Amino acid sequence: MGGYYTVAEQFGLTTNNRTRYSKKWIQIKKNCLTAFGNRCPITGRTDKIHIHHIDFNRENNNPENLIPLWSPLHTLIHALEGFSKAWCE
Ligand SMILES: [Zn+2]
Repeated sequence: MGGYYTVAEQFGLTTNNRTRYSKKWIQIKKNCLTAFGNRCPITGRTDKIHIHHIDFNRENNNPENLIPLWSPLHTLIHALEGFSKAWCE
């Protein structure tokens, strides 16, 4: 099956990648939350916080591309933009 990648593999969702991604992601999330004072800068909420990728590219984990959003607002933004939330976390 050389050269063939499943959808899950392409999106880094295989077991090994998920483990590796999660550890890195936990730190990225922490940095982002700290930078924004552990709250959603739009609603001021501190509960149900998701980290949103501003350009909808979850491969782009640059600090300036990440923003903590209150979960319902996050869902709304994705609905309006027509991007699946699978691209964020
Ligand atoms: Zn998002």
